[in-house]
Amino acid sequence: MGPRDKQGFGMNHESPLLFTARWVLGPEGVIENGCVHIAGGRILAVCPREDVPASLMEKQPGTEHRDLGEALILPGLVNAHCHAPMTLFRGAADDMELLPWLERRIWPLEAELTREITFLGTMLACAEMAAAGITCFADMYVWSNETARAVHDVGLRAVLSEGLLGFPTRSYGSVEESLALTRSFMEEYAAHPRISFAPAPHTAFTSTEEQLVQSYALSKELDSPWLIHAAETASENSRVLEMHGQRTIPYLDSLGCLGERAVLVHAVDLTPEEVEIIAARGAKIVHCPRSNWKLASGMAPVHALGAAGVTMALGTDGAASNNSLDILGEMRAAALGAKIRQMDPTALPAAEVLAMATRNGAAALRLPGSGMLKPGQPADLCVLNFAGPHLQPCHDPLSHAVYAAQGSDVCLTMVDGRIVYDHGAFPTLDYPALLEAGHEVQAHMRKVLDRKGRQER
Ligand SMILES: [Zn+2]
Repeated sequence: MGPRDKQGFGMNHESPLLFTARWVLGPEGVIENGCVHIAGGRILAVCPREDVPASLMEKQPGTEHRDLGEALILPGLVNAHCHAPMTLFRGAADDMELLPWLERRIWPLEAELTREITFLGTMLACAEMAAAGITCFADMYVWSNETARAVHDVGLRAVLSEGLLGFPTRSYGSVEESLALTRSFMEEYAAHPRISFAPAPHTAFTSTEEQLVQSYALSKELDSPWLIHAAETASENSRVLEMHGQRTIPYLDSLGCLGERAVLVHAVDLTPEEVEIIAARGAKIVHCPRSNWKLASGMAPVHALGAAGVTMALGTDGAASNNSLDILGEMRAAALGAKIRQMDPTALPAAEVLAMATRNGAAALRLPGSGMLKPGQPADLCVLNFAGPHLQPCHDPLSHAVYAAQGSDVCLTMVDGRIVYDHGAFPTLDYPALLEAGHEVQAHMRKVLDRKGRQER
């Protein structure tokens, strides 16, 4: 299932392109009747349609014009935390306590994973994300080089990682080998235009102290972010306290792992002092509200984190605990959740939540330039179609993007100047073949779960 670029519009990185639409979100705000001019995979201009200088068009002969009509062009959305291959486990286990969820469902299914299945799960996740306007995501899983292969083929941007655990895995072998594998992937992909790798200890209680300390040093040495699930639940904090005499945040801080490279996923169970420590160290957080609610983990104190000046991004987490890779849905959950947590309707306004899903995500992942439609930046964008009845009338397109739109309203997604989703079509992958392969894996997994169920009876 390699890249199968169909002939056509926008598929050539070098073919200059002029998108026009009713609204464009530029660096200074919404532009009415705006346009985005793209060439060589980069943005040349973002401006009102009438301001496109003829000289610019002349400099780019052969520019194709595509009018998107009643639509909003947004920067590409950033999903700052995912486990892409877990898309295959969507709906295989819901409404369960964490331990039985893992022991009876997720771990038996993960035992069946092969390289090929991991690749397939990532292809499905990439298709889902492309169709929902996500141009860039961060991922943590096993066999992450298979994830990279799929991301390369589909054409998304990604920061990938091999989850580092304090026990051997089939993916990297022994604990000692886990960091060497991470280093080799980081070096292998250092020159890739869209894919990079980062060290990612799984948690403060499932990774060893050496893995934590050495992986943070590696992120400094090779200049990458450092990803970790942190303070996801109160029980995690109790566990870390029992093992190391401190809760997660002070423990990571005592190891020197809480610097500006740290991307703390979840950050739900935090004391006010811990919020201050995160802010003082410049660590970033990834808020995953729907996963946190579905697993009844709690609600991250985004109001306090925001007030302390912490950079906050948004993530879906894996499809097994969400169950959808739709950042627009996550934006709405974040905005509504912040309000009810504070009992304050002014908490986390639309513009801030949109920033979380775009430029903050890019900043947390150390991808300067992504997350904004600005001249000189890579052409990563998505287009929301505003034709649906649920988006009528439109007083404020940004309000609609956060409070009324959904992932299925995305009609076009472009990464690095290349269209990866276009009105139901996936120009870079063979969707019917992918669907068929997904059905086969589902049938196999059904048998695994049935067998497990019989053993338990
Ligand atoms: Zn996660």
